[in-house]
Amino acid sequence: MTDFTSVTDADGVAVITWDVKTKSMNVMSRESMAHLNDLIDAALADPAVKGIVITSGKDSFAGGMDLNTLAKIRDEGGDDPAQSLFDFTMAGHKMLRKIERAGMEPKTNKGGKPIAAALPGTALGIGLELPLACHRIFAADNPKARIGLPEILVGIFPGAGGTTRLVRKMGAMAASPLLLEGKLNDPKKAKALGVIDEVVPADELLSAAKAWVLSSPAIVKPWDEKGYKMPGGAPYHPAGFMTFVGASAMVNGQTQGVYPAAKALLSAVYEGALVPFDTALKIEARWFTHVLMNPSSSAMIRSLFINKEALEKGANRPAVPDQKVTKLGVLGAGMMGAGIAYVAANAGIEVVLIDATQEAAERGRAHSEAILDKGIARKKVTPEKKAQVLGRITATTDYAALQGCDLIVEAVFEDVGVKAEVTKNVQAVTGPDCIFATNTSTLPITELAKASTNPTNFIGIHFFSPVDKMNLVEIIKGEKTGEVAVAKALDFVRQIRKTPIVVNDARFFYANRCIIPYINEGIRMVAEGVAPALIENAAKLVGMPLGPLQLVDETSIDLGVKIAKATKAAMGDAYPDGAVDEVLFWMADQGRMGRKSKSGFYAYDEKGTRLGLWEGLAAKYPQAKDQPDLTTVQHRLLFAQVLEAVRALEDGVLTDIREGDVGAILGWGFAPWSGGPFSWLDMLGAPYAVERCDALTEAFGARFTAPALLREMAENGDGFYGRFAATPKAA
Ligand code: NAD
Repeated sequence: MTDFTSVTDADGVAVITWDVKTKSMNVMSRESMAHLNDLIDAALADPAVKGIVITSGKDSFAGGMDLNTLAKIRDEGGDDPAQSLFDFTMAGHKMLRKIERAGMEPKTNKGGKPIAAALPGTALGIGLELPLACHRIFAADNPKARIGLPEILVGIFPGAGGTTRLVRKMGAMAASPLLLEGKLNDPKKAKALGVIDEVVPADELLSAAKAWVLSSPAIVKPWDEKGYKMPGGAPYHPAGFMTFVGASAMVNGQTQGVYPAAKALLSAVYEGALVPFDTALKIEARWFTHVLMNPSSSAMIRSLFINKEALEKGANRPAVPDQKVTKLGVLGAGMMGAGIAYVAANAGIEVVLIDATQEAAERGRAHSEAILDKGIARKKVTPEKKAQVLGRITATTDYAALQGCDLIVEAVFEDVGVKAEVTKNVQAVTGPDCIFATNTSTLPITELAKASTNPTNFIGIHFFSPVDKMNLVEIIKGEKTGEVAVAKALDFVRQIRKTPIVVNDARFFYANRCIIPYINEGIRMVAEGVAPALIENAAKLVGMPLGPLQLVDETSIDLGVKIAKATKAAMGDAYPDGAVDEVLFWMADQGRMGRKSKSGFYAYDEKGTRLGLWEGLAAKYPQAKDQPDLTTVQHRLLFAQVLEAVRALEDGVLTDIREGDVGAILGWGFAPWSGGPFSWLDMLGAPYAVERCDALTEAFGARFTAPALLREMAENGDGFYGRFAATPKAA
């Protein structure tokens, strides 16, 4: 079975159809690329063929390159993986350039066969780079289709000519949001921007493309014509110069210098713009290889693409029959409950949303209305869709409405007593077979399960706030949680198109367990007299989305105080964070509760806009004359998190390092360039990581003690992925 087939019709148009039978969306592999190359050769050589249309047998065109292919090519490269990647990339360029030149005379540009791309729907990555090499791109008028080059989001950039062609076609300025932010557009918008050429009704797609091919069109690309000038100006043109100065500053501002792909992309664009097209492709291939060889890119591809997808597809799902949710009950229509109701209804699930009063329940439903209205204002949601989604949410105080629910998610107050009562009241209606999930963020699942008549069917499904934006869902197994409950939670998360990790029950589960030490380390440094600006900037320069002080302002200082008190009560004398509490409790005493009180570690104006770090902090915690170097501050902030992740693995809270890495990036934004805590430790190498732990322990305390697992790995020369790669689950 081949992914491409070619059929020449009576008019002499060879229609090459891409249809990967084993997948719902086409992806390009090494084998299919070679096959496409053969079909192009055959069509160009066949005198009966007047032109070619490349299309897809599915309702989308293609999702992109199979990123596993790139990893495989690098691994097969032996001693010289860069050469192997470069050769593969250049072979791709050669084929796409063959399509673009289509048999024309090299010098005169005479002859050649017109080649059109006909896109029935979504075209991403190489699924757009291939059409960009064709002479005209037709797309079906399918508003759901997404067209673009999202490579940057997984740590690489478009390396099959997409970078060079798009910039030559649109100009650097216009192409930059598409390339640097991976922005996707529907076909009409893509046409308005000049990415594609025609949008036609879906049932006329093929005929329109064929008619164009047969109309003897001009097919020489502008950059193959004499005197070609780049739209918007090349770098040495005054306008072009401004673009590159601005883009360079923007890339550094957004990436803080830690993401290699954006900088390499910009270099490929800049250097490529100064030379002829074929040389520009070679430059693109060199930078692409450079990025693929960077450990950050491989780690990002592994976590954000390969492993994320594996988890979404149920890598850790028990083998029980389909547990898709048909009717969901949500208890508590506050911030979290309202968000959970929205994402479920939006995914087509019937929802009963219950709160203590009708007014509170309605308010919860109104949250969905507000999100949908915003979508309408942005033209992303139709009024019909809004009516459908809202129609699926019943807001009520009546527990009887829960009859027929196959999953309950409880999001009432964080109080054992309140939760126990709700559990009993719900089960009186639903019976013990309905799966009951709690969204608690701090209470042990095994304890809460005691209120249930059937703890096997009791589980934690922990969402992050805001629910509609945060893609991670942490599924927590209590001691008695059974396989059906785990499968139900995973199938539900799949229905709402989020990414799950499955962890075992322990204080703060996984994500909060790691993020709290990060915040605490930041606050601890304030107490030591480290400049708050150094703490915050060190965090951002190492790729954390928010500095620890900003983060605690966002989540609120009183929540920090509450968690500290509860942890201290549970740990007694072993409690290690007295120095942190001193600062935190003092802030709370000053009434500085964070963003919500418009005062915290940062100062805010009356509207709540963050102004800058609060200067009053220095009076209480004067800044030391000698400030630590940047790396020390960064290592304190990162090791505080990653050592907790390793301990979670040692304790069996995490059972799969893939979940540890994916969960860290999606759950709390752990430096995505690193691929996650375990990938970062692998980059450092266990021996160096242990060395750093020893130095940090000596300087700052026992919390940096290297976990036994890490020490053992250092001795054996292991890495996390080396050790657990074949059976990540065996971690
Ligand atoms: P919230 O105070 O905004 O909402 C709680 C809602 O539950 C309120 O509307 C309240 O009226 C309702 N409620 C209380 N008792 C009830 C009862 N007996 N029957 C029906 N409804 C009742 O709180 P929240 O921030 O949405 O948090 C809810 C749960 O989610 C908590 O367990 C919390 O730990 C957890 N959680 C919160 C976050 C977060 O960022 N806020 C994140 C993850 C998990």
